[in-house]
Amino acid sequence: MSIREDVLVVGGGIAGATAALAAAEAGAQVRLLSHKQSTLRQASGLIDVLGAVGGASPVSDPLAAVARLPEAHPYRIVGADGVREGLRAFDDAVGDAYAGGHTDRNALVLTHGGTVKPTARYPVSVAPGLASASGDALLVGFAGTTDFDAPAAAAHLDATGVPFDVDGATVRFPVDLRDDARVTRYATALDEDEGNARARLADAVAAELADHERVGFPAMLGKDRRADVRAALADRLGAAVFEIPTGPPSLLGMRLEDLLFDALDDVGVRISTGNPAVGYEASDGRIDAVLVDRLGREVPYHAEEFVLATGGLVGKGIESDRESVTEPIFGCHVPHPEDRYAWSESAAFGDHAFARFGVVPDGGLRPTDADGDAHFENLRAAGGVLGGADVAREKSAAGVSLATGAYAGRRAGEEATR
Ligand SMILES: Cc1cc2nc3c(=O)[nH]c(=O)nc-3n(C[C@H](O)[C@H](O)[C@H](O)COP(=O)(O)OP(=O)(O)OC[C@H]3O[C@@H](n4cnc5c(N)ncnc54)[C@H](O)[C@@H]3O)c2cc1C
Repeated sequence: MSIREDVLVVGGGIAGATAALAAAEAGAQVRLLSHKQSTLRQASGLIDVLGAVGGASPVSDPLAAVARLPEAHPYRIVGADGVREGLRAFDDAVGDAYAGGHTDRNALVLTHGGTVKPTARYPVSVAPGLASASGDALLVGFAGTTDFDAPAAAAHLDATGVPFDVDGATVRFPVDLRDDARVTRYATALDEDEGNARARLADAVAAELADHERVGFPAMLGKDRRADVRAALADRLGAAVFEIPTGPPSLLGMRLEDLLFDALDDVGVRISTGNPAVGYEASDGRIDAVLVDRLGREVPYHAEEFVLATGGLVGKGIESDRESVTEPIFGCHVPHPEDRYAWSESAAFGDHAFARFGVVPDGGLRPTDADGDAHFENLRAAGGVLGGADVAREKSAAGVSLATGAYAGRRAGEEATR
């Protein structure tokens, strides 16, 4: 079997999906190749673009703050316009499922840990809970679940000085579920309104409501009928209802993955999942094919242009052992201190060198070797595999993936169809 495309994108996370969409928009025939599910299934579903620079207080206008980042940062390569372009691609892909596109400024979203986080785009179900929205809030958790302690989160938020009253309550979920039930099981019970679950949940919360004008639940209010579930609860409670993003596994993250893959289907991107890329064939400084391991056989996937979007240390796009840090498919250069002890700081939230490990891009996002020359003329990189950004500290992970995905994908698409 021989496969040939204009553009082959390796990686099925936010960066890979955005690169594939941008390449398709440029008129290219595109295939997206992804080994496993992306980290989106664990992620919050929020799109953080830039929440902090140099450890300083929250950034309110992320586009304006791009110029304050170090020169090696991927945002400095694509520029504020590139970040804007990534957000435009995201807004087109997800449509009215997300809010935040009306302004360049960050919103402040309540987190399940009882903090407030600057973010650029958030699911519409999260919107009524923004710290900037008015109305006293009641946070509600479910007895027996461990990932959201509503009274503790409310106390923590209160201590941060949010400009509204916030209280927490724990109620029994209205359907008897096993102790180890997954978040999707809770969501299905509300989707299906099992045993009149929606009304019974609203009634349990009503007993705690008092004067609160909005009620926040962990993000498990339905899967396929999310808007119906929220509307039913809000109706019966006479209060606005919102979701609070949770830790893994995350329904909001899964939902975002579905939205991005639906958008890929809509523009005719071909998708191959389940097998890893393990190597490549190249000649004259150009990649001819990526080799994919299919049941022990290496199958070449040919294309004119390639985008590497395999994620960072978490997504396995970058690997490390005790001695070295590598990019496993193309063997791209990943600079790192010789001394293993210089990779991290002793403080958990310190300025760790490893957080910025990744391939080093040139101005066209082509990974470069130790001399600064592009490894291959037709290979670009996007997202977590790129070095130079501490996305967890800066709160910029999804934004970097969107901006560099759109930039790399558009260039690959234009080059392939030239
Ligand atoms: C727990 C958690 C919470 C997060 N919360 C937030 C948040 O609140 N806000 C925010 O902005 N971002 C958040 N993120 C980050 C965000 O979800 C992405 O991880 C980040 O944007 C990087 O995306 P990516 O597309 O570069 O890589 P990934 O999402 O890691 O995707 C990499 C893809 O490459 C594929 N792949 C890897 N190696 C191969 C191979 N050899 N062959 C074929 N395919 C391969 C993988 O299967 C996967 O599909 C969170 C991430 C995690 C893990």
